[in-house]
Amino acid sequence: SADFSTETERTLAIIKPDGVTGNHTNSVKETIINHGFRIKEESFIQLDEDRVKSFYAEHSSRSFFPSLVEYMTSGPVLIMVLEKGNAVADWRALIGPTDPLKAKVTHPHSVRAICGLNLQKNCVHGSDSPQSARREISFFFKMTSSGHASKHDEL
Ligand code: ADP
Ligand code: MG
Repeated sequence: SADFSTETERTLAIIKPDGVTGNHTNSVKETIINHGFRIKEESFIQLDEDRVKSFYAEHSSRSFFPSLVEYMTSGPVLIMVLEKGNAVADWRALIGPTDPLKAKVTHPHSVRAICGLNLQKNCVHGSDSPQSARREISFFFKMTSSGHASKHDEL
């Protein structure tokens, strides 16, 4: 019979260098699990310049781009594939607005309000749409037909 409940979906989460360095990895993962996401894949990786430029290509003409590339290559990140119904929108809602300083006011319980430092060093990433999620997951993980993902490379 047809099931009209929210479809299972996957999204890409990243604990950014400031989140890893600031020791937020365990608490963010706890938050993820407590909100019903399953962590399907996870990997600590060190991004290089080319990979960040390609990942954030949509922002390549922005004035903050060189600084964003430097920040995202400044240390290891934890990339994760999260799964649950409505995963993309729900993870975006859980992390809060891009700017942690604004998030502290408007979404004080969000991940970025709690763990983020400033507009750039905002602790976590989340895919902004199902299409972005598919692109970003396959950017980092090679998905097999069984739905299992394997990393393209390791730290
Ligand atoms: P989000 O991560 O919320 O989707 P964007 O896609 O707009 O936000 O930006 C990507 C990342 O670039 C942000 O998470 C943040 O780290 C950085 N960033 C965005 N806007 C700025 C800015 N004006 N100044 C510095 N860094 C920024
Ligand atoms: Mg974005």
